[in-house]
Amino acid sequence: MEKPTTGLKIVLVGDSAVGKSSLLLRFAEGTFADLPATVGVDFRVVTLEDVRGRRVKLTCWDTAGQEKFRTLTSSYYRGANGVIMVYSVDDPRSLSHIESAWLEEARKFVNNANAVYMIVGNKADLSPAAVPTAQGRRLAERMGALFIETSAKAGAGVSECFIELVARILESQ
Ligand code: GDP
Repeated sequence: MEKPTTGLKIVLVGDSAVGKSSLLLRFAEGTFADLPATVGVDFRVVTLEDVRGRRVKLTCWDTAGQEKFRTLTSSYYRGANGVIMVYSVDDPRSLSHIESAWLEEARKFVNNANAVYMIVGNKADLSPAAVPTAQGRRLAERMGALFIETSAKAGAGVSECFIELVARILESQ
């Protein structure tokens, strides 16, 4: 008999150009392309098996450039099980905007008390990083969020990011 599939909604938020589309492309297709900044897909569906062999179907939403105008709507967030908040390690402002803007917006619109939040410091291949790892980690600890650094370009940390998030979501359900 087919194993039952758990469906989860994951949303990506964060400033423009931090690498949200690139992270999703790397995760869904294992590739990196120099994407024009405004071209984003709406969503991608990825099916995983978790550690206990359960099938998990992730629908991962990308902002498709709308974050530039701060016009993400409540429906973008509605029902999200996981919120990935991305900053770039070469852009300190993109980290501070997580605290001052993205977290507040997500908490306002994610109508799911069990949602899991994860802060992702992307572009970790760029060194020296303008944002030290400890700074991202501290913010995540304060917010009760998970934390990881990734490089969509090199592929580092990307599948770990989604796998950890999914594991925590399944635990908290
Ligand atoms: P978005 O606007 O947040 O969706 O960001 P994009 O995915 O469009 O990426 C913005 C720019 O950053 C593009 O030029 C990407 O090629 C580049 N980029 C994305 N991820 C990485 C990364 O991990 N390392 C480096 N060096 N560049 C990246």
